[in-house]
Amino acid sequence: MKTPCSRPVVLCLSGHDPSGGAGLQADIEALLAQGCHAAPTVTALTVQDTVNVADFRVLDRDWVLAQARAVLADLPVAAIKLGMLGSVEMVDTVVQLRQQLPDVPLVCDPVLRAGGGGALGKDEVGYAMRERLLPLATIATPNLPEARILAELPDGSADQCAEKLLPYVRHLLITGGHGDEHEVHNRLYGRDGSRHSFTCQRLPGSYHGSGCTLASALAGRLALGEELVSAVRSALDYTWRTLRDAEQPGHGQYIPRRLPLDAC
Ligand code: PLP
Repeated sequence: MKTPCSRPVVLCLSGHDPSGGAGLQADIEALLAQGCHAAPTVTALTVQDTVNVADFRVLDRDWVLAQARAVLADLPVAAIKLGMLGSVEMVDTVVQLRQQLPDVPLVCDPVLRAGGGGALGKDEVGYAMRERLLPLATIATPNLPEARILAELPDGSADQCAEKLLPYVRHLLITGGHGDEHEVHNRLYGRDGSRHSFTCQRLPGSYHGSGCTLASALAGRLALGEELVSAVRSALDYTWRTLRDAEQPGHGQYIPRRLPLDAC
């Protein structure tokens, strides 16, 4: 017997990472863990392992539009999560898609680098996101290095980057995992002047797919109807636990454990 799906659907537009640590696989796992259904649209293919990225190829815009439109015509999408877009043209493709579904929460993870440092898009992609995509987003979730690129402030603090970026986006969560402070400070800024800081214990090691995990968990929480500040807290707590329980399946970075062992 068929049962209607009661789990909110989240449309993910992200790249594919064949190591399974980041990208769409991270999105799917993190969304499953929130009790959501992920509808994954591929924007780009990458060649990478847990150490670094060797290459990537952005899909043709028509293919991405066709994938996403098939989902939008069929499923009740409750939120959108954006990850790797990879080109300025893909940014504009997503802008076009957003016009079809302007009112659901949209979480933009402005992916420009892999955890190992390899590029997943030129800085121009970040500037196009800032100008054309961030104004359509509910929240953007850059880490501090990404926020510095978006803000064009190479040595800027989180506060300085936020000041530069808030005219473009309603809410900004700048994560602090890439810093060297004793604790990790994740800072949420609202254009209305609101400020929240979420501090957590810094875990040893370097992780592959932590940003994807956070942004997807957040999109899932918003899709479930959680209010923004609470959703950010829930997504950060969930992500921290996935890093605490991370595994090192290859020769490079740790991969967050996003699902309980008995679900794998
Ligand atoms: N999206 C894709 C397809 C990737 O390959 C990566 C990193 O390798 C990312 C996003 C970003 O990963 P992270 O969450 O570690 O920032």
